[in-house]
This record gives sequence, C-alpha cells and structure tokens, in this order.
Amino acid sequence: MSVENVLKIIEDNNIEWIDFRFVDLQGRAHHISLPSSEVDAETFVNGVAFDGSSITGFRGIEESDMVMMPDPEAVFIDSFTAHPTLNIMCNIHTPDGERYERDPRGIAAKAEEFLQKSGVGTTAFFAPESEFFIFDDVRYESGMNSSSFFVDSEEAAWNTNRKEEGGNLGFKIGVKGGYVPVAPVDTQQDIRSEMCRLLAEAGLRVERHHHEVATAGQAEINFRFDTLKKTADNLLVYKYIVHNTARQYGKVATFMPKPIFGDNGSGMHVHQSIFNGDTPLFYEKGGYANLSEMALHYIGGILHHAPALIALTNPSTNSFKRLVPGYEAPVNLVYSKGNRSAAVRIPVAAVTPKGCRIEFRTPDSTANPYLAFSAMLMAGLDGIKRKIDPQELGYGPMDKNIYEMSDEDKFKIRSVPGTLDEALDALEADFEFLTEGEVFTKSFIDNYINMKRNEAKAVAVRVHPHEYSLYFDC
Ligand code: GLU
Ligand code: MG
Ligand code: MG
Repeated sequence: MSVENVLKIIEDNNIEWIDFRFVDLQGRAHHISLPSSEVDAETFVNGVAFDGSSITGFRGIEESDMVMMPDPEAVFIDSFTAHPTLNIMCNIHTPDGERYERDPRGIAAKAEEFLQKSGVGTTAFFAPESEFFIFDDVRYESGMNSSSFFVDSEEAAWNTNRKEEGGNLGFKIGVKGGYVPVAPVDTQQDIRSEMCRLLAEAGLRVERHHHEVATAGQAEINFRFDTLKKTADNLLVYKYIVHNTARQYGKVATFMPKPIFGDNGSGMHVHQSIFNGDTPLFYEKGGYANLSEMALHYIGGILHHAPALIALTNPSTNSFKRLVPGYEAPVNLVYSKGNRSAAVRIPVAAVTPKGCRIEFRTPDSTANPYLAFSAMLMAGLDGIKRKIDPQELGYGPMDKNIYEMSDEDKFKIRSVPGTLDEALDALEADFEFLTEGEVFTKSFIDNYINMKRNEAKAVAVRVHPHEYSLYFDC
C-alpha cells in the first residue's frame, strides 16, 4: 500500500490516533501514539523517535536515540480502542538513517533478500499454527489462585480453570480430552469466532479455528500462509487480537508453551515452502511424501542445525517443559510424513503440488517470529547449499510412533536440547549458518545469547513450588 493510500484510510475512517509499533527482541510489540493531525507524508520519511535504551537488549543509555520508520504495507485499524486508531508496524533505524542491526523486522527483510540472492528461489512462505490457552482472568473473578497453574498431578490439571460455586463438582473434559468436542463441552466457540471476526477485519485470512487437545481451554486459530516478514507481522496482529479479545470477555489468553504440568502444551508448528515465481520447489511426484530433493535438503538443514535453531524457535525456559514425550510435542530430531512425534512432519492429507510443504513442529509462540522464521530459512538454505541428505545422516524417515519405541532404538535418535542453556550452548557452537550474508550479525547473536542466559539464570535462582514437595519435610 502506498503512503497516499494510508493517508486516505486515515481520512476516510476519521482516524484520530496513529499508533506506531515496533517489535523487541522477545517478539513483543511496543507502541507510541501520535494524533493524526501530527502525521503526514513526511512522517513516513523522517520516522518517529523513541528511547532504545529502555528496551531489553537494544541500546545503552549513552546512545539511546532510535527511530521508528513506518511501513505503509503493515497497517490495520485497531478494534479495541475507544478512539479510532490506525496501527502501523515500523522498522527500526539508527539516528543516521541506517537499518538497526538488532531490529528483528530488519533481520526478516535481510533473510528474504538473502533467499533471492542465493538463486534458490524467489519467495519463502510460512504458516504458523500458534496454539494458546484461554483462562479465567483473576483480575476479573476471584477464587482462582495463580498457584493453580503450578498443578502437579493429572487430577489437579483436570480441575484447573474449572472452579465452581460450592466445590469443583461438575463434569470436566479429561486430561488431553479437549480435541474438537462440540458444545456444551467446548465452551469457547464464541470467543474464538469473535477473535476470527476481528482477525479478518484486520486483514488476515482465517482458515479455521478449533478447541485443542488440552483440557483447560486450549485453542488454535489458523490463518493463511504468506511471505516471511508478512507472516511475522500477521502473527503479531494475531497475538494482539487474541489477547485483547480474551480480555474483553473477562478472560486471559496465554501463549506460554507449558502452563499446565500433565497436559498438552502450546506449540507453534511452522509450515514452510519455497517457490520460484509461481512454481513450487518442494514438490516432486513420486518422491518420499512427494517431496523434491530440494525439500529434503531443506529438511536436512533444519534437522542438522536444530539444536542451535531451537535457541531461537523455543527461546524460553518454559519452552523445554513442553518438549517432553507424550504430549504431541516433538522430542526427536527426525522427519516423517504424518508422524506427530517427529520434529519435521510432511503433511500428506489433502495436499496439492502448490500446498506441498514441510512442518517444523518444535517452535512455540515465545519465539520472536521474525527471528525464528529467518533462522529456519537460513538453516534450510544451508541444507540446500550443502546438499544435506537427512536420510544419510540417520534423521529418518521415521514412520513409527517414537514415544513407543524401545530404548535401544530411541538411543540412536538425536533429541532436542533439554534446557534453554543447552540450546544456547548449541547456538554458541553453531551460528555461521545464520551470519551468512550478514543476515544475523555475530554481535546480534552474542547479545541475544547474553540476554537469554540472564533469563535462564533468573529462573534458576528462584525457588520452585515442586521443590517443596521434594524437600520441605527433609
Ligand atoms: N499441542 C501440541 C504441541 O505442543 C500439538 C498438537 C497438534 O498436533 O496440533 O505441539
Ligand atoms: Mg494444534
Ligand atoms: Mg500442526
């Protein structure tokens, strides 16, 4: 969309406020609002200033001035403000007008440019399946103690989020019993439909919604694939709308990967493919799951770099509480068609040549989507460049249920890192695939690792509720 078109939207809709947004290293959006009378074509040239030193992992206080450069391609009208507001996603520049090397959106742009320069294809497409929980909000209703999130038995997980007057006596969905039951068991149809209505209003093409497997109000909404940066933008809009719709309903939504011990966690499986113009490059009839050699090499790159990649796709201490056997989250670094216990799945049901894609199941929504999608593309492109054959390396195809294999067979399979620190160790040792073409800089990676080590340390030094059951009566 041109700047003129954006200005026309502002005028036609009597927009009072323009909300300039940028994304931090964690993937959270931040915003500053200007009255529309202060915004004109010049604003798109000069940008809007903000203090970069107050954002974790950005600049020091001695060089704090930064600029948000609005992207006229990334606008939507806010559904939650009382005063008509247009949101514009921005790139971050330094005061000298350079692209800021730690701007996640800038990295996504560089990854897309790198793909084009590589000669592999013109466009990479991404589609995330970002699951989340809708809980009762303690800010609106009393009676639910936040400690119930730390439940430590199946029975307790069963009762979480199901408080009732006079005791917790009514019928509940069993643990892992939430997959697509109709109402009245599914109580969240309307809230999900409302989220979808608002997503469509914001310009996303919604494909479906459903209740997910976990007991306590787990949901998933799918929106249509798009190019890398655009999909990351869409994911930010998605999270904004999910959070705020939940709030309007007196609920709270969380994308935290494992809020409840003993039930399924929330993943963000990412479907991906590469096209050259209109031609899908991952499809070849007759190959394993109708995959081309290029697609297999892409998978090889993802699996080969997975331990390091996971530092960007699963970047929270909580991420690793989801990546355990038995909950449809992948633990094993193998590929397979249809198999949901593998890290890379190739969907085979109802797939056309253009829809032929791979699904990396490891990521979760604590990932910054700009960084995670860029890193996955870089890993896949490295696999293509180095012709990494995943079968030769023993990464599959693995068409059995890995959770049920013998220990001896399982032993041969590489696993995902067990903790955030292990993933950061892997990234420290394997980062060159990301710094190709300066898509990620070494200084970015060092700073990122440092920021995430601090998070891991902050969690490690705190007393955990489960330590009381293990040690209190010692
Ligand atoms: N919730 C599962 C996960 O943590 C995925 C369930 C599904 O296959 O959609 O990845
Ligand atoms: Mg799902
Ligand atoms: Mg999936």
